[in-house]
Amino acid sequence: MSDTTKKPVLQVKNLQTYFKTDDGIVKAVERVSFDLFIGQTLGIVGESGCGKSVTNLSLMRLIPSPPGKIVGGEVLFKDKDILKLSNAEMRSIRGNSISMIFQDPMTSLNPFLRISTQMVETIVLHQALSKAEAKKKAIEMLELVGIPAPEKRVDDYPHQFSGGMRQRVMIAMSLSCNADILIADEPTTALDVTIQAQILELIKELAQKFHTAVIMITHDLGVVAGMCDNVCVMYAGRFVEKADTDSLFGKPLHPYTQGLINSVPRMDKTNGGKLFSIEGQPPNLINLPDCCSFHPRCDKAMDICRKKYPQLTEVEKGRQVACWLYLDKEGTENE
Ligand code: SF4
Repeated sequence: MSDTTKKPVLQVKNLQTYFKTDDGIVKAVERVSFDLFIGQTLGIVGESGCGKSVTNLSLMRLIPSPPGKIVGGEVLFKDKDILKLSNAEMRSIRGNSISMIFQDPMTSLNPFLRISTQMVETIVLHQALSKAEAKKKAIEMLELVGIPAPEKRVDDYPHQFSGGMRQRVMIAMSLSCNADILIADEPTTALDVTIQAQILELIKELAQKFHTAVIMITHDLGVVAGMCDNVCVMYAGRFVEKADTDSLFGKPLHPYTQGLINSVPRMDKTNGGKLFSIEGQPPNLINLPDCCSFHPRCDKAMDICRKKYPQLTEVEKGRQVACWLYLDKEGTENE
């Protein structure tokens, strides 16, 4: 568990990322804020298209522009706003201080280059090591992530590894430069269930070993429950609930969070043989109305929900929710 009395390594304040399309402006990320601490694993959870990945690509300044643009907010990494850094300064942060693991390692590894070439290049680029030293470090990292005979496998090509082993290589590469922050974007979705568990365990173990803060992007609440200290639930580009993991699962506040948790199949709750699902579809992010965007799918919706957006507000110590059920009509917390 992280020590949140310390200063955060990353502070995201009111981040806004929009995409200009022929049909209008897509507000993919709207006023998202969070703090991340060394040693903490923060989960960002929500359905596909809710803005989780765009949030994290924004942190890395990897939004394709055009059509995308970060239009507002601050991303303070060790007190420096990385949105204001030059491209050269940003390149030195990417991969060095903040690393990313993607869903499908084949899209991140170059299929034409040996693993050694790719790892050595990354290590030499970010650390003051010779090529020989970098290769030694690459072998050490491969050993650490459980690649058998790493001194031989380091010279293999990506296609000579299984999916799970490729993801291990990606983890080795991401952590080879002692990153402060590791962003894992659905890192196990492309893997089968047993390998998923091993990869998650490995990320957890190595994050502890290297004191790395982790942002885990996932639609899988099982991953959140097993891995994360804190959770941000995202819907239609905004955070609608923030809590520590135990509180969130023990007593979800937002109706969307409740729906997500109820949608997880459970052996002890059969729901008459039917699986629960949240009715309806996520909204189109173009021209979202300025009210609760979950209201068409919410069975607790009230008049005010269709008129005014409920601001994310602290309703209990360490818990924030954006829902009129917990706020008075002025948008402040209900007694
Ligand atoms: Fe449901 Fe209203 Fe809360 Fe939105 S604000 S989640 S519509 S109760």
